[in-house]
Amino acid sequence: DCPPTPQAKLPHWQQALDELAKPKESRRLMIAQIAPAVRVAIAETIGLAPGDVTIGQLVTGLRMLGFDYVFDTLFGADLTIMEEGTELLHRLQDHLEQHPNKEEPLPMFTSCCPGWVAMVEKSNPELIPYLSSCKSPQMMLGAVIKNYYAQQVGVQPSDICNVSVMPCVRKQGEADREWFNTTGLARDVDHVVTTAEVGKIFLERGIKLNELPESNFDNPIGEGTGGALLFGTTGGVMEAALRTVYEVVTQKPMGRVDFEEVRGLEGIKEAEITLKPGDDSPFKAFAGADGQGITLKIAVANGLGNAKKLIKSLSEGKAKYDFIEVMACPGGCIGGGGQPRSTDKQILQKRQQAMYNLDERSAIRRSHENPFIQALYDKFLGAPNSHKAHDLLHTHYVAGGIPEEK
Ligand code: SF4
Repeated sequence: DCPPTPQAKLPHWQQALDELAKPKESRRLMIAQIAPAVRVAIAETIGLAPGDVTIGQLVTGLRMLGFDYVFDTLFGADLTIMEEGTELLHRLQDHLEQHPNKEEPLPMFTSCCPGWVAMVEKSNPELIPYLSSCKSPQMMLGAVIKNYYAQQVGVQPSDICNVSVMPCVRKQGEADREWFNTTGLARDVDHVVTTAEVGKIFLERGIKLNELPESNFDNPIGEGTGGALLFGTTGGVMEAALRTVYEVVTQKPMGRVDFEEVRGLEGIKEAEITLKPGDDSPFKAFAGADGQGITLKIAVANGLGNAKKLIKSLSEGKAKYDFIEVMACPGGCIGGGGQPRSTDKQILQKRQQAMYNLDERSAIRRSHENPFIQALYDKFLGAPNSHKAHDLLHTHYVAGGIPEEK
């Protein structure tokens, strides 16, 4: 007798659609979140230019598919900046006080890209202590939904199905890490659907995104800032972090919010930012006798090839930085493997410009000024890097990596 053919697991977009198709009374609460880079590329799935479908139209489209609530991954990105910025400043302070913590050395690398995290775990495990312990925006928002929002709406975490719309083919693997179950009762993120997949679903359902009216994200965990939006492009995490770190250290509003030094599509970008600590800042003691301030050395690697070059110059002692952003895909998430395919050679420039335009038009552009983020800390998390924030929003890494489901 032949053994039965093993049943292939349904693709995640199909599992999400199957859940949406159940009668409302017998299905879980369906929640979608939309990553930054999705909003500029979704228009390309119907042959339009980047940015030609608005985020409000995409929110309406997801509600038409049956989602009960639609949240913005930008909220998770603002939370990432609060946590990661605070972590960077802790590491910097330890370093300046000359008692560097071996478990939290400098330079600190960003950790929101699962392609980069996988490279560190598999090929450079010696760099694990240098990775920020922060989860990615997707996983931070997933944890907040299942822990905080579930309480707000009075449902069990296992009665919520979180679906992420992402530009990325590695975000499902990230969500599958078994410890990303912060309630102990259910996964924090259930299914990940890519930009291209969701575009195809709209086409098949005859939903014309560009003709839809706009609707808003749900709150109180739905809104994000311009800084958070920039997570979708290379240099963006760095720019968003600098907007917040600058103001925390200097205790002054920043004269400019655009950091041109980290913009564009070059392979490696470097800059030095001088921070003059405010009178009440714990960094005041390190400002130097002449009050010149602290110099933060930063770098951005666009793609893993450039990350390898940076690692080489660091290990040869040819370069020294405090904070390094790495995104695996060319251009960052705007060039992610889950985005629509394009034959336009200028597509990354166009998507990136669309992101910058959206940031510029945002009412709030700095993560720490997001009133919904401030309220979440006041009501639930306490302070950035608090015990609770650590439990829900930070993670650990595995030398050698973990196998990912295909
Ligand atoms: Fe995913 Fe690529 Fe973005 Fe990394 S850069 S999070 S691999 S889309």
